[in-house]
Amino acid sequence: MNNTVIANEEIDQNKLNKAKKIILELQNDLRTYIANGSGPFLAAIYDEKGNLIAKAANSVVSEKCSHNHAEMNTIKAAEKALDTYDLSSHNLSLYVTAEPCMMCLGGIMWSGIREVYYGVPSKSVETITGFDEGFKPDWLNEFKNRNITVYGNIEVEAGENVLREYVALGHTVYQPER
Ligand SMILES: [Zn+2]
Repeated sequence: MNNTVIANEEIDQNKLNKAKKIILELQNDLRTYIANGSGPFLAAIYDEKGNLIAKAANSVVSEKCSHNHAEMNTIKAAEKALDTYDLSSHNLSLYVTAEPCMMCLGGIMWSGIREVYYGVPSKSVETITGFDEGFKPDWLNEFKNRNITVYGNIEVEAGENVLREYVALGHTVYQPER
């Protein structure tokens, strides 16, 4: 699989290096979250000064809610922390261990998040775990049109290893019946 970093702007090495560090930390922290019953995805939102605003894992199974993906939980926590439904003026960046799914793309778009950095690409998530990530035609360009910067395929191998561990441990890969 081609794991070259992709972006919808010319790659800024400083942004990428910062993202590599944060995503690698998230991949490592994720093991503890999984051990405590979370799903295998973790997200964090930072402001431009590097302050952590919110951090949350997937809690679909533990909280019995199909919307509780890591990105959605983190956005909800950030909006609560900053007491707003529109994060735009706070210039926030979302970092997440895997590519956002179809639902989370919508959640991110409507939140006012300015930048998105993700680890493992959806195809790889689907191959390793069996989760369905949805259909997402040309979303990097759609986000660019909405002034949302995206960098993807960051620290892919480290992220894939955590997903393989999740499956090997026999944790739930939830899907609606079809
Ligand atoms: Zn999602």
